[in-house]
Amino acid sequence: MRVQSLVVALVLVLLWVSHGTVANGQSSGLVRVTPLGSHTGELCRNDRALLFEDPTGVRILYDPGRTVDETDRRLGDVHVMLLSHAHTDHIGDVRPNPGAGSCAAPAAGAANSNTNFASIAAVKNAAVLAPGELSGYLSRKILNIRGSAPAACAEGGLDNIFDVPLSAPCASALRPGGSRTARRGGAPTGVRIAAVPAFHSNGVPAALVDAPGEAPGLSGYGGSEGGFVITFTNGLVAYLTGDTGMFGDMETIISRYYHPTLVVLNMSDTVTLGPNEAIYMMKSLIRPRSVMPSHVNEEATSGGAIRPGTRVELFWLFVRDYVDVVVPVSDLTRSFDGSGRCGGCR
Ligand SMILES: [Zn+2]
Ligand SMILES: [Zn+2]
Repeated sequence: MRVQSLVVALVLVLLWVSHGTVANGQSSGLVRVTPLGSHTGELCRNDRALLFEDPTGVRILYDPGRTVDETDRRLGDVHVMLLSHAHTDHIGDVRPNPGAGSCAAPAAGAANSNTNFASIAAVKNAAVLAPGELSGYLSRKILNIRGSAPAACAEGGLDNIFDVPLSAPCASALRPGGSRTARRGGAPTGVRIAAVPAFHSNGVPAALVDAPGEAPGLSGYGGSEGGFVITFTNGLVAYLTGDTGMFGDMETIISRYYHPTLVVLNMSDTVTLGPNEAIYMMKSLIRPRSVMPSHVNEEATSGGAIRPGTRVELFWLFVRDYVDVVVPVSDLTRSFDGSGRCGGCR
């Protein structure tokens, strides 16, 4: 009888331990999103870069722009890099100058004619995915840096899977309707990255075109600009709009087909949709659980709080009742579960 009691107690202890393990496994099933901007704790004019980390360890850098280069210690491993388009504030024509200038007007570092994007990809052995003709352009920039051109990224099976980490960079185009899957070696599933349209422009700035260059006043042909939909292994679906205006397919395709639960919404106005259009998007086109206002081209926060009179405040005031507005202040890692809920954000 005593032995039986001991066995029962042992089984209960084992159940408790295994339950704890399961619980820990679930709590680690979060996607971590870290904004890499110009000023720690703030959302500033030049901030574009976001680093995503899937629960399986796949790390994806999106639009590094002018606030991150290959020397930045915040990066760590980078397995995949996504570029929405070639404009300077996304591809990075100048190096960061940490701490210099203000949040409203960050100071630039030295020019980088090979771009911060390619410099990071070359050092980190990243898989580069970019719309249209940009993958060829970025391959040339990586060749400039490494002395050899990157191979095309692998595309195994029906999900176009490639495994990371890589031992050398690769580069491939991803055009609207297409997708590729990045899988951490040994993981049963991977992160699916789909390309979706954006409506903007994609000229390669003349200063970033190698010899023989462009005629004065013209930019290089970069093909189509784009956005991305990333489906993480915990179920989170993130729609990265890129620079764009509103278009009907935000509802008919991106919302109804992909069902994003998190939107990273570029909303600087004048060159992209503005806060009023962003409000309409959230009310009528896409209804995510959470939204990160990005590409705001203003000093959106002070001490990490939204500043009055900003585009971000206007947006937040009108959408806060039905979507969680997560302000992507630099260097603060946010964690999202499979439903798009940000843990500890409210
Ligand atoms: Zn742009
Ligand atoms: Zn832009």
